[in-house]
Amino acid sequence: MRKQVWFLTGSQGLYGPDVLDQVVDNSRELVSRLNTAGMIADVVWKPVLTDKEAIVRTMLEANSDPACVGIIAWMHTFSPAKMWIAGLDALGKPLLHLHTQANIELPWASINMDFMNLNQAAHGDREFGYIETRLGVVRTTVVGHVDSPHVIARVGQWMRAAIGRAEVRSLRLVRFGDNMRDVAVTEGDKVEAELIFGVSVNTFGVNDLADRVAQTPLEAVNELVSEYLDVYDVASELRPGGDRHSALRYSAKLEWALASFLEEQCAMAFTTNFEDLGALEQLPGMSVQRLSWKGYGFAAEGDWKTAVLVRAAKAMGAGLPGGASLMEDYTYNLVPGQERILGAHMLEVCPSLTTTRPRVEIHPLGIGGKSDPVRLVFDTDPGAAIVVGLADMRDRFRLTGNTVTVVPPDEPLPNLPVARAVWVPDPDFYTSAECWLTSGAPHHTVMSTAIGAEVFADFAAMCGTEFALITKDTSVASFAKELRWNQVYYRLSRGL
Ligand code: MN
Repeated sequence: MRKQVWFLTGSQGLYGPDVLDQVVDNSRELVSRLNTAGMIADVVWKPVLTDKEAIVRTMLEANSDPACVGIIAWMHTFSPAKMWIAGLDALGKPLLHLHTQANIELPWASINMDFMNLNQAAHGDREFGYIETRLGVVRTTVVGHVDSPHVIARVGQWMRAAIGRAEVRSLRLVRFGDNMRDVAVTEGDKVEAELIFGVSVNTFGVNDLADRVAQTPLEAVNELVSEYLDVYDVASELRPGGDRHSALRYSAKLEWALASFLEEQCAMAFTTNFEDLGALEQLPGMSVQRLSWKGYGFAAEGDWKTAVLVRAAKAMGAGLPGGASLMEDYTYNLVPGQERILGAHMLEVCPSLTTTRPRVEIHPLGIGGKSDPVRLVFDTDPGAAIVVGLADMRDRFRLTGNTVTVVPPDEPLPNLPVARAVWVPDPDFYTSAECWLTSGAPHHTVMSTAIGAEVFADFAAMCGTEFALITKDTSVASFAKELRWNQVYYRLSRGL
C-alpha cells in the first residue's frame, strides 16, 4: 500500500469566496509540484480549512487512516490559530509545517491590498507556529518556495522519517532466544519500547525454528541454491558436487525456514543468538544476510533494539541507492593521521551495503559450538554513511548518531572471511569515540548508506526520543553539555 501525506491549507471565511477559490487553486498547484518531485509517499490535497470543526474532523480522519503517515500544514492566508487548538491537540501523526507562499517574487509594481490579503503566510504561519509551540506540538518546520531544491529535499526527508515512524508503530519483532548472556546494552525495556516506538518484541524458542528447518521443501532448497549460484561467487567447495555443498543447502533451508516463520508471525524484524542455537546445525549467517537484504530488520545476540533500527532505516531508505545493516565497531587502525574503524560482525552484515558481487564462503567459527557457517563476504561501498545506536537509559531511550565516511580498506583483507566496512567518523576519530562513549551509545548500530542525519533526526523527534548526533561540527565539550541538558529535558518533558 503506497502511503499518503495529507496536505492541509489553513485560511478563514473573512476574505470571501473569490480569495478562497484562489487559495484552493494555489494549494492544489503546490501539491502537484510536490508530487512531481518523486516523493516516497503521495501528497494528498484536502479541502481548505476555515473552521474548528472541519480541522478536528480532518485530524481524527488522519489519525485513523492507515494509509496516512503524516500531515503537512500551510497557512496560505491568515488563519486565526485558536481554531487549530483542538485539532492539533488531537493529532497523533507527524506534522510538517511548510512555511511557503505561492509567489516567488514580490510584484512591486502591481501589488495592492487584495494581493496582500491573499498571500500572507508570512504572518499566517507565524500565528500557526505560535500555537504549535504553545501546545508543545512536535513538528518539522521547512521554509522556502516549493521550487527550491532545499524545500523539496527537506520535505522528502521528513516524509521518509514519517514512513519509518509508521513502520515501527506496527512492527512485530521475533527474537529467537534471549540476548547474549551478561551483556548490558542489549537488554532493555520492551514494554516502554512498545509505548514509545510501537514495536512489539516477543521471544520464541529456537527449536521452533529448527523444526521449521526440518520441514523445508526440497524444491525450495533447489530454487534458493540455484539463485545463490546465479547472483554470488560461490566457493567451489560449496558448489554442487563440492565437498561442502550440503552446508550451502542447509543455509538455504535456514533461509526458507526463517522467512516462513517470520511471515507466519507477520514480523519484519528478528534476532538470533549464537549462545542459543538449539538443534540448528549452523549459526545463521548467509540466511540472515539474505533476509536483511530483502528488507527484514536484523541484529545479532538478541539485540532487538538494533533490529528495530535496521528495519526502520530500510523502510526510510526504500528506493534510494545504498542500504542499511547491523554494524559493530570491531577494531581500529590507530596509525596517526590514518585512524579508521573496522566494522563487521561474526557473519551477519547485510549485502545491501555493496553493489559488488558478494562471495559465498564457509569457514570455522570459534564460538557457538556448531558446524561451520556459510556467509556472504564483501566490502561496503565507499561513500557517506551514518551509524545510529539505540540505548536504554533507565527512564528513556537515547539514539546516538555519527556521520561517517566509508573508505576502501587500506589493503586487502584476505584472512578476514566476513562482510565488513572501514570508515572515518566525523569530526575525527578521537572526538567521535570520546563523544560516543560519553553518550553511553552501544557497540551495535545500524549503518545506513541510503539516508542521512536529517531523516534520523526527524524520526527521533516523531518518536519523542533523544537524538545525540556527532557531526563534523561536534566538539567534546559542547556534546557533553548537550547530553547533560538533554538529561533534564527528557526527564521533565515526560512529566513527573
Ligand atoms: Mn555483536
